[in-house]
Amino acid sequence: MTERISHWIDGKPFSGVAERSGDVFDPATGQVRARVDFAGGAEVEAAVAAAQNAFPAWRGTSLAARTRIMFAFRQLLAERKDELARIVTSEHGKVVSDAAGEIARAIENVEYACGAAQLLKGGFSENASTGVDVYSIAQPLGVVGVISPFNFPAMVPLWFVPNAIACGNTVVLKPSEKDPSAANFIAGLFAEAGLPAGVLNVLHGDKVAVDGLLEHPVVKAISFVGSTPIARYVYETGTRHGKRVQALGGAKNHMVVLPDADLDLAADAAVSAGFGSAGERCMAVSVVVAVDPVGDELVAKIAERIRKLRVGDGRRPDSEMGPLVTAAHHAKVESYVDAGVAEGAELVVDGRGIEVDGEAGGYWLGPTLFDKVSPEMSVYRDEIFGPVLSVVRAEGYEPAVELVNANPYGNGTAIFTTDGGAARRFQNEIEVGMVGVNVPIPVPVGYYSFGGWKDSLFGDSHAYGPEGFHFFTRTKVVTSRWPDPSHGGVNLGFPRNT
Ligand code: NAD
Repeated sequence: MTERISHWIDGKPFSGVAERSGDVFDPATGQVRARVDFAGGAEVEAAVAAAQNAFPAWRGTSLAARTRIMFAFRQLLAERKDELARIVTSEHGKVVSDAAGEIARAIENVEYACGAAQLLKGGFSENASTGVDVYSIAQPLGVVGVISPFNFPAMVPLWFVPNAIACGNTVVLKPSEKDPSAANFIAGLFAEAGLPAGVLNVLHGDKVAVDGLLEHPVVKAISFVGSTPIARYVYETGTRHGKRVQALGGAKNHMVVLPDADLDLAADAAVSAGFGSAGERCMAVSVVVAVDPVGDELVAKIAERIRKLRVGDGRRPDSEMGPLVTAAHHAKVESYVDAGVAEGAELVVDGRGIEVDGEAGGYWLGPTLFDKVSPEMSVYRDEIFGPVLSVVRAEGYEPAVELVNANPYGNGTAIFTTDGGAARRFQNEIEVGMVGVNVPIPVPVGYYSFGGWKDSLFGDSHAYGPEGFHFFTRTKVVTSRWPDPSHGGVNLGFPRNT
């Protein structure tokens, strides 16, 4: 019998009947491995009600008690990370070591949330006016919604959930319907760590569940990660319904290679960042900008490395790159390769039609390299989100920077150079939220915050770290006087500080 994956509401698996559901595939075989329930209005109501009911007690739970639960969760996650990595691989397809990497980065965010007692401290100004003290308090918002994409089914929920609950909020998490099991595993671990029922709920489904959260008057904030069109929609719809929204969107990340760069280092970095997780990362490098005259040599070095990559089932220890997530996504990515050829890009390595041992039904596409790509081609313009790397040639530093800055996305970028002055100028001039200097995937550590610029983020708060705590709290400033016997009488003037 096919496994059923259902919601986690009020501290337990949902036992009701699902009116709609969807297939969850094993991308390495193309087989259906489970069916996931899709929430309708009643399930949205149930999840929001559970979170709303849990909020008063959770908000009133001491920082010491909340922190202890977070430490216990961190411990359980570290102990069970291999199990979770295998779950991620079975539904997403990425190789197990890569899934383990995503969990390691997720743990950083849990560790940050363990510092809630320190991070939630307010300010205090004694005697701001004579006999008057002023202080600030950071309070939770209430019920918050987290909506996550398929490509990091463990890490992206954990960018938000630990910080949100450490701040005293209660959460409804709506993970991607393509790989829903990691979210239930995480909810189970939180319960084991002692998190009270209703503080974290998992609601599975599609647009119906998302719209239910965006429109629900009890939901106070939405953290979203996904593609740019949906991020824009979520931002516009959520804010129209009076919510605080941070919506992180898609990307087209450029890696600029200057003529003085170490080309072996640059080629290793381009291949690692272009084809890790089959290019299904929002921080994947999808465009290499080769500044004259390095193009021919760099392309040759990248191609040489690509041809050695081992594509296969992510559960096999020798696989370096797994399949794409679904048949539909595979067809879309492959159609971009066809379009690149039709539009005149030079196909250096063709990943179409590869054969992988014994796994004919998997969604395989080998690593693909285009050279001499120009900005009007669809392989350059669109986020492909697959193992397709484009090389654009640039005549110098300025045209390279102009190209990056003209792109509507602004998630991540990197420069490869041995010239510190050039790198410093680049970090100053580039209009992108996360910049790597000889680092191809500059995902900030958990105590900074993650977010792009332009069409890669809607809203004004980046994810996790200090901006995460800021997003999940609202501040109150208290001005207080404890009158002494000398207080004066009525005064209708605007209060002045004396
Ligand atoms: P997606 O936009 O298709 O889906 C994201 C979430 O939105 C899912 O939970 C999905 O169920 C929901 N959704 C999908 N269509 C919807 C609709 N019409 N209305 C309401 N909700 C809808 O994204 P995806 O394919 O799951 O993930 C890949 C995308 O996410 C890529 O564009 C990638 O760049 C982006 N991403 C961005 C970041 C970042 O930090 N900027 C991180 C990871 C992924």
